[in-house]
Amino acid sequence: MAFNYSISKTVVLCLFASVRVDASLVGCLVVDTKKILGILFDAPLSFGPLLESVLSIAWSSFQSLFYAAQSGGFSLPLLLDEVESRIVPLVLFPAAFLLCAEGALDALDRLQLRWARAALGMPACSEARHALLLLQCNWPYRLSTRVIEEAVVALARLRVLPEDATGSRMLQAAQAHGTCTWLQKMQSVLNMSVLPEPIAEIHLHAAFGAEALSSARACSEFRRQLLRRYRLQAVRPILHAVDLQYFNAKTCLPLHALNLVFSDFHRVGARWCRSMRDIDLGSDPWVKFRCWAVIRCTGRWPLCVYGHHELPRAMSTCPFCDASEVGIDHPLLGCPGTVVFYVLLRSVVDVPARNNGPAFLAALFSEPAESSARSHHIRFVSSCVAATIRKACQSACGGPA
Ligand SMILES: [Zn+2]
Repeated sequence: MAFNYSISKTVVLCLFASVRVDASLVGCLVVDTKKILGILFDAPLSFGPLLESVLSIAWSSFQSLFYAAQSGGFSLPLLLDEVESRIVPLVLFPAAFLLCAEGALDALDRLQLRWARAALGMPACSEARHALLLLQCNWPYRLSTRVIEEAVVALARLRVLPEDATGSRMLQAAQAHGTCTWLQKMQSVLNMSVLPEPIAEIHLHAAFGAEALSSARACSEFRRQLLRRYRLQAVRPILHAVDLQYFNAKTCLPLHALNLVFSDFHRVGARWCRSMRDIDLGSDPWVKFRCWAVIRCTGRWPLCVYGHHELPRAMSTCPFCDASEVGIDHPLLGCPGTVVFYVLLRSVVDVPARNNGPAFLAALFSEPAESSARSHHIRFVSSCVAATIRKACQSACGGPA
């Protein structure tokens, strides 16, 4: 056997509690971490440094995409879609190893929440629920769920390799060894208590017989197809049920400021954002979309969209009609000062007369098929609310009304 001793080609990593060797004795670098094929390994094999590195790279990549979208004039719905296709894969690539890091699933969900907050312009201290923000971003799965799915498929990939392939031999060795292996970690994931039923491994699954497995071991194309079927038919439905239960539990809680329940209007699982890519919000489209999104997620005055940090539940006085302690529904439902917006909305979209609760809810929550109707609903909500906030600021500063 021969080693390539050029700098960093061959290094010594003293695993677990093994005695740290002297670099002069082994003739190459002695390191605490080493990146191999894009995965950062650390001496105790905790994968904590890998998790930290992935969190950092995924956040900075999100920021780059975010600023590119802002400066390039791309719409916010487009940015949200691009996060799914450009940033999430950075996290999924090392998924099988990330699962071994302590606290990884919670940390990944916090990262996803951070993306959502940044995109929607929501302050970190706001009480908007994680589930509502994800639905608003049109992200149908928690990031932790995506990582689990990827890791389970990674295990299946090893199971259907030819038996003399390195990965397959490694798995056989892990199976024989029994304790404290990645395989054992994965088997605990397959049997997690939150799952409605355990996820069966591909070689034990009733839908994938011995014939299919031996064909997969012999042909890489067949292997790819079999793994795709396993992902879509065996793994994803079980994980989807977990997330559906999570979203349903969170969206049926009331939005206190509006005194309504999000799930009465938003069907969990519906992906509305596809046609959101085409909406035309005129000038300041990001501000309008964020204003509408923040109200949907919190039921509060979206002052954060206009440069403040708070999300108040009520305004002490309406600057148009002097009504006191007005919630966000006031300008949308009954304030004489914003009636002009309603008239404009009625001129382009078929909605009932003013002072009609369902019409206000339709503008805030409904998902009309035509993107032009959606555009008008979002414009109506954001323009009404923006006019009231602007007027209140002018009154507070003593400026012209
Ligand atoms: Zn008013």
